[in-house]
Amino acid sequence: MKRIKQMPWVLELDGEEVHDCFLFEGDASDCEMAGKGGCGTSKCFLGTGDSREPKFCLRHYFELNGDDREGGYKIVFEH
Ligand SMILES: [Zn+2]
Repeated sequence: MKRIKQMPWVLELDGEEVHDCFLFEGDASDCEMAGKGGCGTSKCFLGTGDSREPKFCLRHYFELNGDDREGGYKIVFEH
């Protein structure tokens, strides 16, 4: 999986835990949710810069990190 660039937002959990976000280029099987259905078809994936952390296709990334997800991460733009 190839790291392309850093995204202009971070993920926050309870306003404390903060994770950066990078765009990656990879294969369909690189999504953490691969095999569970519903993966996006682009070769783009998002995740933290830590290679040990899971990466997600665009669709699953935004589904899992939407603003109204209970107990989940929230997308926050840095100013
Ligand atoms: Zn996916």
